[in-house]
Amino acid sequence: MSESSNPSNKLDFIREIIADDIATGKHATTITRFPPEPNGYLHIGHAKSICLNFGIAQEHSTSGAKCNLRFDDTNPEKEEAEYVESIKTDVRWLGFDWGSELRFASDYFTFFFDCALHLIRDGKAYIEQQSAEEMRANRGNLTTPGTPSPGRSRSVAENLDLFVRMKAGEFKEGECVLRAKIDLASSNMNLRDPVLYRIMHAHHHNTGNDWCIYPMYDFAHPLEDALEHVTHSLCTLEFENHRPLYDWFIQNCPVPSKPRQIEFARLNLTYTVMSKRKLLELVQANLVNGWNDPRLPTLSGLRRRGYPPEAIVHFCKRVGITKFSGTTDVALLEFDVRDFLNHSAPRRMAVMDPVKVFLENWSTEPLPSAEISNHPQNPQMGNRDVLISNEVWIERDDFMEVPEKKFHRLGPGRHVRLKGGHIIRCTGFDKDPEGNISLIRAEILPGTVGAESPEGIECKAAIHWVDAVTGVDAEVRVYDRLFTAEDPDGAEAGFISVLNPDSLKTIIAKIEPMLAEVAPGFSCQFERTGYFVADSIDHLPGNKPVFNRTVALKDSWVKKSSR
Ligand code: ATP
Ligand code: MG
Repeated sequence: MSESSNPSNKLDFIREIIADDIATGKHATTITRFPPEPNGYLHIGHAKSICLNFGIAQEHSTSGAKCNLRFDDTNPEKEEAEYVESIKTDVRWLGFDWGSELRFASDYFTFFFDCALHLIRDGKAYIEQQSAEEMRANRGNLTTPGTPSPGRSRSVAENLDLFVRMKAGEFKEGECVLRAKIDLASSNMNLRDPVLYRIMHAHHHNTGNDWCIYPMYDFAHPLEDALEHVTHSLCTLEFENHRPLYDWFIQNCPVPSKPRQIEFARLNLTYTVMSKRKLLELVQANLVNGWNDPRLPTLSGLRRRGYPPEAIVHFCKRVGITKFSGTTDVALLEFDVRDFLNHSAPRRMAVMDPVKVFLENWSTEPLPSAEISNHPQNPQMGNRDVLISNEVWIERDDFMEVPEKKFHRLGPGRHVRLKGGHIIRCTGFDKDPEGNISLIRAEILPGTVGAESPEGIECKAAIHWVDAVTGVDAEVRVYDRLFTAEDPDGAEAGFISVLNPDSLKTIIAKIEPMLAEVAPGFSCQFERTGYFVADSIDHLPGNKPVFNRTVALKDSWVKKSSR
């Protein structure tokens, strides 16, 4: 499986190739590129490619290596400026830098056109006037070679004339295309005279109405790489069959360098859909709240969810680069997020399902309970004073009217410690007309702050709490996985049919007063519950606190799925 850990001292097969090329002096310097199509937001799969391409450039930066960020904007109909901006933000957020120059494939339109003219002059491209259906029918199949169309034997002069008229807008969409003349009998269907240019009377975000013919991806991509002197063009496995075509264009066009295409396995995650088309469908059908919905695997969604970029980069490293396609357990990503936050996130207290405890022998005036550590394993994070008055909130499930055997928390007559503060003893409780506990009564044991439990008193647990006088209400968005099926793409009734109806639960929780003041994006652990982040959009400090659950403290899906 691709998810086995990849010890950092062992190079993956692509880095090995690059190390060899450096050792033999094949290239003056190493150049990679990340070439997103600006037709959607980046997702965690793209992060794998970003970490690979920009990572290699970083590792060899002393010898001048670099990675270009190039927008593959050759299709005028699907691209939007909004996507360009979001992609730049996401690449930077992961900690990478493309240098001074941002690149757009559309800046090379003239070069592509010149390469097409070159191929025509060499008798290696021709104008096709058959319809798309006729072309498909005449392409043959694995056992039958393709049938040449009348266009294939047209003269160079005629082809040149038609192509120039195509560019001048004399034809309607679909009336003709430019095809490479390669091999109609090739066992690789990609080589059976692929289309190079088609007519599209469309406005382009960069070149406006300058062009009405647009190059196909397979033709444009190697030319873009060669123009930028990319040495290693790294792409996912589905392009393996296109490599002979990539090489054919490099050999037959007047290019300034000879890039090498190398394929690796794309990242797939359980309980996740990654295709931009499907993500767009979720967004457009309002099944999620925009591209940055914290349940989506988009980088903007994960950021809003509170995933630290370092955890994503670490995860990509751990997944590693191989030729074997597989699916990685999303729990591995969640593990890395938890692991990173465990070290970096300060501890705070919040009560998700509050029930009030009345402390019969305590002051109505909020007083400091004690200094509470902000991170038990990291004293550098310091302590904080938390106020306590005679009413506090605790979690409903930290109390049991009739405690079970291994339950060590609060129950009638029992003791428990309020985290960082006193031991309390339950003296009674009230119920509402429906039979639910409405109030717990207790007394504080004076002198027990920071001390062992006094002799003869059994106190085995410490529970988190929030003072009821100074505590604040917060909207907490408890996010869970977006799908209930491990392989949503494989669901019989489609991926929409396996959406998790409980992927978002909004609750009103009680939080420490200082949490209401934090800046959007502030990340912390709510003790005993999970990691949470102040929402980057809706959280208004001092006014309306809104927190998102990044990840629970434990993986609840392990239990759920084994049940
Ligand atoms: P999708 O299949 O999600 O629509 P795409 O491949 O069409 O994505 P591009 O914008 O063309 O998206 O991708 C930019 C780069 O990111 C490409 O080099 C592509 O190979 C890489 N990439 C996309 N998805 C993944 C993935 N799941 N794992 C690794 N690399 C990926
Ligand atoms: Mg693509």
